[in-house]
Amino acid sequence: MKYDLIVVGSGPSSVFLGYELIKLGSKKKVLIIEQGKKVEERICPIEKIGKCVKCKPTCDITTGFSGAGAFSDGKLSLYNEEDDDIYVGGDLHKYIGIEKTKRLIDYTDKVYLDFGADPKIEGTEYKEEVKKIYNKAKKADINLINIPIRHLGTEKSHELYARLEKYLLDNGIEIMFQTTVCDLIIENNEIKGVKIKASKDLEKEVELAEIYAENVVLAVGRKGANWLSDVCEKNGIETRTGCVDIGVRYELPDEVMKDINKYMYEGKFIARLGLFRDKVRTFCQNPSGFVSSEVYDENINLVNGHSYKEKKSTNTNLAILVSHNFTYPFNKPIDYGRNVAKNLNELGAGNVVVQRLGDIYRGKRTWEEELARNSVKPTLKSAVPGDITYALGYRTMTDILEFIRGLDKVVEGFANPDNLLYGPEIKFYSNKVLINVNFETNIKNLYCIGDGGGMTRGLMMASCSGVQMARILES
Ligand SMILES: Cc1cc2nc3c(=O)[nH]c(=O)nc-3n(C[C@H](O)[C@H](O)[C@H](O)COP(=O)(O)OP(=O)(O)OC[C@H]3O[C@@H](n4cnc5c(N)ncnc54)[C@H](O)[C@@H]3O)c2cc1C
Repeated sequence: MKYDLIVVGSGPSSVFLGYELIKLGSKKKVLIIEQGKKVEERICPIEKIGKCVKCKPTCDITTGFSGAGAFSDGKLSLYNEEDDDIYVGGDLHKYIGIEKTKRLIDYTDKVYLDFGADPKIEGTEYKEEVKKIYNKAKKADINLINIPIRHLGTEKSHELYARLEKYLLDNGIEIMFQTTVCDLIIENNEIKGVKIKASKDLEKEVELAEIYAENVVLAVGRKGANWLSDVCEKNGIETRTGCVDIGVRYELPDEVMKDINKYMYEGKFIARLGLFRDKVRTFCQNPSGFVSSEVYDENINLVNGHSYKEKKSTNTNLAILVSHNFTYPFNKPIDYGRNVAKNLNELGAGNVVVQRLGDIYRGKRTWEEELARNSVKPTLKSAVPGDITYALGYRTMTDILEFIRGLDKVVEGFANPDNLLYGPEIKFYSNKVLINVNFETNIKNLYCIGDGGGMTRGLMMASCSGVQMARILES
C-alpha cells in the first residue's frame, strides 16, 4: 500500500487538513490512521454508570474521529482585531505571522459555521463591564485576557464533527479506524511510511504491518504526546524540552461566577503571585458545566470539564494550571506530570480525587459525608473525596492557593471554603518537536501539527494548523 500522504491521528488538526485538501481540489491519495472509533460510535459509559471504567483498548473521550474535540466544550477562541499579538492557543503565529494567523482563524471559523456552529459570539457585548473587571484584576496583580469565543457545546461539537467526518469520507479521504501507528519508517533521513497494528492488540506483541507514503503528518494531540516523545527519541527527530501544566479543576457556584460568565463566558486570568512567581492561569471555563474525567496511556485518569448547549448544571468549572519547567539535572516534564497523576490516582483508588477548599485550609482530607453536606455539589460523581495535597507538590499547591486568594479580590466568593478542587488536571505537551515554517521536522517529508508536537493548544489553533498544512502540501 502506498499513499501520497498519511496523517497520524484524526483530531481537529487532521480533520481540517483533510477538509482543506478537498477544498483545494487535491489529487493526493490520503490516508488518516486513527487509534479510536468513528465519531458516531464514541460513547463514554460514565454518564450511564456513574464511574470511569477505563475502557479498553482506548478511551472514547480522547480517541476517535475529531480527537479530544468530540467531547470538548467546543469553545473556539477567536481574536480581537486591535490586538497586536495572539494571546491564546499556542505558537502557530510564531511560524506564519500574526496577520496570517488572524486570516486563518477567520477562514476556519467560517468552516465551523458552515458545518453548524452557533453564529453567536461571546465576549464582545459588554466592553465597559469587562474593562471594570480588567481594572480590578490589575489591582490584584492579575492579568485578564478577553478573547471573543464561539461556543459549540459538547453535544453540538459531536454533531458538527460527524458532518465533517461524512464530508471527508464522501470526498475520497480514507480513514483507517481503531488502528494505532506504533513506529515510523525512516530511511536516509527521509520518511517512507508507518508501522501499524490494530488497536485491540495494543497490549499484545504482534507483527506490525507497514504502509508507505511520500509524506507523513503527525497530528497525535495530547493523547499521543507520550508516544510522540518516545518516537522522536528513537528516530532522531529533533525536539526541545517543553513544559507540563499541572493543577486542578475548580468547581464553584454559577452565582459566584455570574458576571464573568455573562460578560465573557470564559475569563482567562494569568498571574505570577506569591513566593515562587510561577505562571498560573485559568483555562477552559465552563459555565453551568460538568466536570469530566478522561483516561490516558497506562490508565492515568485525568480531570477535565465541559458544558452542553442545552443540559445545564448550577456550577461553573475551570482549570487552574501551573506551568512547570525543569532544567538540570532533571528535565523530563512528561515523566514528572505522569508521576504526580499516578500518585494522586492511587490515593483515589484509580479515580480523580475531590477536596473542599476549606478542608485544604484546615489541613485535612475531605470525607464522603462532608462532601454530601457541602453546599457545592460535585458534578463528577465518580470523583473520590480525599486529599489532593498529598500528591501535588508544595510548590504547585502554594501557587494554586495564592492564585485562588488573589482571584477572590476580583471575583467575590472565589475562595469560598465549599468550592471544590479536583485533581489531577494535567496538560501534557510532548517535547516540542522542532519544525520549520513549513511544519517539516528534520526528517524530510515528515511534518507535525496540532497540540501533540507542542505547536498549538486548543481547538481553533489546532484546526488552523491543519488548514495551513494542506496549503503547504499543495503549494
Ligand atoms: C474535555 C475536553 C474539553 C476541551 N475543551 C476545549 C475547549 O473548550 N476549547 C478548546 O480550544 N480546546 C478544548 N479542548 C482541547 C482540544 O480538544 C484540543 O486542543 C484539540 O482537540 C487538539 O487537536 P489535535 O488535532 O491536535 O489533537 P487531538 O484532538 O488530541 O487528536 C489526536 C488524535 O490522534 C489520535 N492518536 C494519537 N496517537 C495515535 C497513534 N499513535 N496512532 C493513531 N492515532 C493516534 C488520538 O486517538 C486522537 O484522536 C478540550 C479537550 C478536552 C479533552
